[in-house]
Amino acid sequence: MQYVAPTTVGEACSLLADNPGSRVFAGATDLVPQMRTGRLEPSVMVDLKRIERLMSVSHADGRWTVGAATPASDLTHNVEFTTMHPGISEGAGLIGSDQIQNRSSLGGNLCNGSPAADSVPAMIASGARAVIAGAGGERTVLVADVVTGPGQTSLSADEFIVEFEIDDPPANTGDAYLRMIPRTEMDIAVVGAAVRLTMDGDTVSAASVVLGAVAPTAVRVPDAEAALIGSSLDDDTLAAVATAASAACNPIDDKRGTIEYRTQVAGVLAKRAAVIAAERAKNGA
Ligand SMILES: Cc1cc2nc3c(=O)[nH]c(=O)nc-3n(C[C@H](O)[C@H](O)[C@H](O)COP(=O)(O)OP(=O)(O)OC[C@H]3O[C@@H](n4cnc5c(N)ncnc54)[C@H](O)[C@@H]3O)c2cc1C
Repeated sequence: MQYVAPTTVGEACSLLADNPGSRVFAGATDLVPQMRTGRLEPSVMVDLKRIERLMSVSHADGRWTVGAATPASDLTHNVEFTTMHPGISEGAGLIGSDQIQNRSSLGGNLCNGSPAADSVPAMIASGARAVIAGAGGERTVLVADVVTGPGQTSLSADEFIVEFEIDDPPANTGDAYLRMIPRTEMDIAVVGAAVRLTMDGDTVSAASVVLGAVAPTAVRVPDAEAALIGSSLDDDTLAAVATAASAACNPIDDKRGTIEYRTQVAGVLAKRAAVIAAERAKNGA
């Protein structure tokens, strides 16, 4: 196996195009465990962390640009980013431990394709986009369209994510991400729920609800969004959000949680995340 560390996007594209068995990585916190168990055996490991564009976080013209290989801790320690996108920061801040967050990236979290990836639901709820590079140039797609199933993405073998584009939220918008794990720390979500709300006074004017770990990919819940819009988050609305979230679940049944448990918890977390998002929206988060 060969290790290479390109310093430009173009160089990385050429390496991938010339070496069909190659694999990009950032923190390698998913990749190395998978190689140890024999699940993956790349012929060439392409380290993305030497490419400046993939390691930078910037804010200009009403948009954050987050390098796909940037460590999660660079986001969680970024006060301006966290104030504007608390839900995404919450998701990034739940990935493993401090040590893991100092290595792990949003690009890796997304492209590993785990339904339980903690940073993904809030990115989808915020309408984040992924800029993808390959031999044919660059293209931009919604983060929601990247993962197609467990461990699978819509990227071709010679493509990788360069950066994420996350627009500044409209005025009076707040988001939140909550997850449930069976242990107190260092475990994978049995349910994750991200909600983003825009408020017009006490009334919800826009809503986005996304669940993780309850289906083969993160799922948006249009029925919960419809229930929220126009409401003031009264008890009936929150009950409808919970019912819609539970109905959107198609979870696995494993040692971490049964189908019934995941389905019920999804409703509870969606409700709670909606209440937090509304508070943040009203407080100008
Ligand atoms: C102890 C431990 C605890 C963990 N806890 C959590 C947790 O609580 N929540 C959670 O969500 N995850 C958790 N994880 C999983 C992992 O840390 C995260 O998914 C992390 O964000 C992966 O990022 P990475 O940069 O290390 O990815 P890597 O391992 O470098 O890459 C992962 C996959 O994505 C691909 N990839 C990486 N970057 C790109 C790119 N820019 N473009 C295209 N493909 C790319 C790689 O080829 C590989 O297939 C944990 C892992 C460990 C070891």
